[in-house]
Amino acid sequence: MIYKNYPMVSNVVFGRGSFDQLEEILASKRKGRNAPFIFYVDDVFKGNHWLTSRITLSYKDKIIYVPTKEEPRTEQIDQLVEDVILEFSELPSGIIGIGGGIVMDVAKAVSLMLTNKGESKDYQGWDLIKHPAIYHVGIPTISGTGAEVSRTTILTGPVRKLGINSDYTPFDQVILDPELTKDVPRDQWFYTGMDCFVHCVESLNGTYLNAFSESYGEKAFELCKEIFLENSLSDEEAQDKLMMASWHGGMSIAYSQVGVAHAMSYGLGYLLGIKHGIGNCIVFDHLEDYYPEGVTIFKQMKAKHNIELPQGICADLDDDQLNTMIDVALSLEPLWENAIGKNWKTVMTRQKLLELYKKM
Ligand code: NAD
Ligand code: ZN
Repeated sequence: MIYKNYPMVSNVVFGRGSFDQLEEILASKRKGRNAPFIFYVDDVFKGNHWLTSRITLSYKDKIIYVPTKEEPRTEQIDQLVEDVILEFSELPSGIIGIGGGIVMDVAKAVSLMLTNKGESKDYQGWDLIKHPAIYHVGIPTISGTGAEVSRTTILTGPVRKLGINSDYTPFDQVILDPELTKDVPRDQWFYTGMDCFVHCVESLNGTYLNAFSESYGEKAFELCKEIFLENSLSDEEAQDKLMMASWHGGMSIAYSQVGVAHAMSYGLGYLLGIKHGIGNCIVFDHLEDYYPEGVTIFKQMKAKHNIELPQGICADLDDDQLNTMIDVALSLEPLWENAIGKNWKTVMTRQKLLELYKKM
């Protein structure tokens, strides 16, 4: 048996207001006047001086706002990499991603592709990256995905939606400042928070579970119940705790795997462009046969926060479209094996998946 030698984020700061330490952290990493820091910032912060005035730009440093209506695509990453190469005479000193899962994934992917030849679609998969990335920093502004701690960056490419999973993908530095999440809209807070909850349920109920994953998963699961079901927390406490739940949920799946909801949600994302968080919620709502306890708790959380999920999104799909979603979902073999076991192909047939999708 060979055990995974899992790469971790090398440095992490946690605390309200810790965002202000960014300048000092970056100072020692600057490679020269012509090697800028590039800040990818969620475009929701355009004109938000509370945040942007705290980013110090020196020499050729640059802020690039990233639209977040759609999840990142491989061509988008390739374009961003080309823009950097054409604009600057030297490689950047560092790439900083400030935002949700989308912006953090963009920062990770650009930092990898600046040092690895070719197109990003060629690296979708496991351990295809050959050279270390540029120094990269992740600063979440919404909590739940675990992208701040994971060894992947999820991209939609011409043929697949799949991450660039590699030992070089994790951030070199993360700043966890829960105050940055204070203005997240309510629905989005729920969807991205539920991504974390679903990570825990899928990890804790998977066949890949081990003590490492369990210890992180249980902690994150308890934090999610406290945040989404109890009334005792102040806004600040809830923000602090969800940021840590996201981290723990990410650590839990790092050493196990996600399951049915993620596999099916990738199908919805690929075909219909439905985003990760809400897609997981739409699917998870119908998974009582696979995760009975988790789905019961999820429904309580949904009711408590008056969340109305879209219904009937697959009602008008034709057979080709349904087949595409089923193909995408079934291609994620490790997720099914974790969820159901080695014999998963006999349990999760195309017909079974079709019936599930048709309920959504
Ligand atoms: P997101 O990045 O899609 O952002 C969701 C919305 O929240 C956007 O409209 C954004 O502008 C807004 N937002 C973010 N911070 C805000 C703030 N502080 N105030 C107001 N609005 C704010 O959301 P997400 O759920 O964090 O990320 C989803 C993405 O993450 C998907 O692309 C998914 O594939 C990816 N993902 C990656 C991993 C990984 O390990 N790399 C894991 C899970 C998901
Ligand atoms: Zn997820």
